[in-house]
Amino acid sequence: MTDLTSLTIAEARDGLASKSFTSLELTDAHLAAIEAARSLNAFVLETPDQARAMARAVDAKIAKGEGGPLAGIPLGIKDLFATKDVRTTACSKILGNFVPPYESTVTSQLWRDGAVMLGKLNNDEFAMGSSNETSCFGPVVNPWRREGSNTTLVPGGSSGGSASAVAALLCMGATATDTGGSIRQPAAFTATVGVKPTYGRCSRWGIVAFASSLDQAGPIARTVRDSAILMRSMAGHDPKDTTSVDIGVPDYEAAIGKSVKGMKIGIPKEYRLDGMPAEIEKLWTEGAGWLKAAGAELVEVSLPHTKYALPAYYIVAPAEASSNLARYDGVRYGLRVPGRSIGELYENTRAEGFGDEVRRRVMIGTYVLSAGYYDAYYLRAQKVRTLIKKDFEDCFAKGVNAILTPATPSAAFGVGEKGGADPVEMYLNDIFTVTVNMAGLPGIAVPAGKDAQGLPLGLQLIGRPFDEETLFSLGEVVEQAAGRFTPPRWW
Ligand code: GLN
Repeated sequence: MTDLTSLTIAEARDGLASKSFTSLELTDAHLAAIEAARSLNAFVLETPDQARAMARAVDAKIAKGEGGPLAGIPLGIKDLFATKDVRTTACSKILGNFVPPYESTVTSQLWRDGAVMLGKLNNDEFAMGSSNETSCFGPVVNPWRREGSNTTLVPGGSSGGSASAVAALLCMGATATDTGGSIRQPAAFTATVGVKPTYGRCSRWGIVAFASSLDQAGPIARTVRDSAILMRSMAGHDPKDTTSVDIGVPDYEAAIGKSVKGMKIGIPKEYRLDGMPAEIEKLWTEGAGWLKAAGAELVEVSLPHTKYALPAYYIVAPAEASSNLARYDGVRYGLRVPGRSIGELYENTRAEGFGDEVRRRVMIGTYVLSAGYYDAYYLRAQKVRTLIKKDFEDCFAKGVNAILTPATPSAAFGVGEKGGADPVEMYLNDIFTVTVNMAGLPGIAVPAGKDAQGLPLGLQLIGRPFDEETLFSLGEVVEQAAGRFTPPRWW
């Protein structure tokens, strides 16, 4: 039998339907792979008993011809998604051994459609980071290495566990979240496909909140088709999230293979950074060429407020985070460090429970929201955000269907290599991705090539609101041209 873990979701779906193997066999193969890959630190909790029980139940359904669209497919779940009766920590000490009595809407839709949960995946603490080094469970290891080197590389973040696990064939797909780039950047670092849907496309209910006006859930998978399959189950209106939008969920998979002839693809000149590695520049040109060869028309566009996106993001996101994280007080969830008064209990708990990066964000956030500075920082950042959104609107109004950019300014870097002395060095990772969150747009990162050291690089496509379908069509063109990339197994 072929190695079941190397199948795509689409292939596994066919194999399960034709009874070539059972979901239990598929699940067991992945559980064994997870056990053999503990050195990657991708999973923070393995749930083998639950996985096998779910697989058996779905096998019985498949036998009766009742399996859903994801029947029997084993997935990993970012530890930011609340899973009923299964520990959920956001990889923060402050949540301790919190076990939610409820299930997030997105994961409940995956189980409704027959998926199997293998366990919870590592991420940056409260999804703050670009390298998965801020997790209280320690860093995740990227299955990719530079050619001829043993240096441990980061998988990107914050959805580093999701990206690493999918790339290393530990799960067939994973849930992830993206506030400023946390789906697309780790996808680019691991040669996986990551989709950040339009704000409001997926319910945020039951997902640990970071910055509520920017957070959005989406899939990480090994192919564009697989990400489309997962998206269909994850998306949808939810009355429990008032920002989720009530429009029908299309059959995203049907967009795969659709002609992109005549589509207008914008190439934003502001994304051509000074000092950008030549390899990234080359990849971008190559990607544009593939789309052109498929019949798309390339047009230069201008997004003039791009340079303000990162600074504005680092005001808006911490502001919202400081407010969202106020609930972790030692009374309601997880960790409690006693004190002589209730005030001291709050202080002690938060001082011990939050890591450095989270504390930095809470301090920045409370500062920019404080009475004397609110107008100068927060209000101003919101105005800049409106201008960034307008840049995109102007571009789409001229008939542009999607925008092509690099996904990241570099390939994966080493553990401990960035951000130690200056956190801004880490923040710069999101230079190409934050604008999309600020504008609420959908974006996809697709593997497109490798750098001189053999590390994967990705391209990003940005779409019109609720037009993820176009991104799947274009993404598949890139995938077809670039091919797929799998890391050699060393772990
Ligand atoms: N790296 C960005 C941050 O640290 C984005 C993280 C994310 O998208 N969750 O805020």
